[in-house]
Amino acid sequence: MPELDAQVRALPKVELHQHVDGSIPAEVTWQLMKHYGLNPVDTLDEMRRRLELQPEEEGTLLAYLDKMHYPLWITQFYENISQVTEAIVDEAAAAGVATLELRYSPIIHTFAGLTPRQSIRAVLSGMNHAAQRHPMKLGLIVIAMRQHGPHIAKILARQAISEAQHLHARVGVVGFDIAGPESGNPPRLFRSAYEIARIGRLGLTVHAGEDAPAEYVWDAVDGLGAQRIGHGCSAAGDEALMRRLARDRIVVECCLSSNYDSGAVRRGEPHPIHRFLEAGVPVAICCDNTTVSRTDQVKETLRLARQLGLETVNEIHRAAETHSFIRPETALSDREHDL
Ligand SMILES: [Zn+2]
Repeated sequence: MPELDAQVRALPKVELHQHVDGSIPAEVTWQLMKHYGLNPVDTLDEMRRRLELQPEEEGTLLAYLDKMHYPLWITQFYENISQVTEAIVDEAAAAGVATLELRYSPIIHTFAGLTPRQSIRAVLSGMNHAAQRHPMKLGLIVIAMRQHGPHIAKILARQAISEAQHLHARVGVVGFDIAGPESGNPPRLFRSAYEIARIGRLGLTVHAGEDAPAEYVWDAVDGLGAQRIGHGCSAAGDEALMRRLARDRIVVECCLSSNYDSGAVRRGEPHPIHRFLEAGVPVAICCDNTTVSRTDQVKETLRLARQLGLETVNEIHRAAETHSFIRPETALSDREHDL
């Protein structure tokens, strides 16, 4: 349906859940690797196979996460981080994204000596450069990795606040998140970090219910005060939880392609986004990792538009806009209110 494709492309879209590490265009990673003589293979096509999930690798979260390790070879340096981020924003703009929240784990970009704050600034530098070319709303969510533990998460929450968008007249940090190996690391362990982020006026989202049961989503909501949930797939099996998410207008950031790729949802089964919509739970249509899942906002929105129609996906994007952490008081057009 080429007509629907064009309509979806023209729709102003809202991206609330997209990781820098898994979204760097393969060509950009390839160019940087060649520049430094680090390329582990001889051709871009071979490199693509290492950066994009292959059919035989589908089905486990750890195989999915392993796709991020090659980009880390080059994203340890300020200018490279800035450059790859700019390329990600360019791609999103080309796909018709009007509001873009990127997310990023600063700590895994400090292996060559950047401080966590410099690591955050490097991404923001790329976003600010791109903002000069694209009339989009932009903001960054800082991620603490679960495997680094609650103490590092607290330190990162403070670093995130120091670069908060509402404190600076430029693109800055708008939210806080935890990600990484979910099972065995329940959200409540990170309560102090979320309290710091909340007091610092950052939006709160939590990767939960992707690779762990619905209890983890309850924990994110009750224990951390999450305003949004990343993935939340297991919540669809808990009626009481869905009523809670609907009542408190807690958004589930749904990443359709990614969930099938990582095995959070089995191929052939309907995606839980349909259950959420039936239950009145707010949802957002998100890419998670455009490179790993070979996707973008046009493909993700089109996938759903084929099932639900253009008007419904338009409504989802308009509603998602109201749940963006880029609040009016943090928008760049509101500079006079900056501290
Ligand atoms: Zn994610």
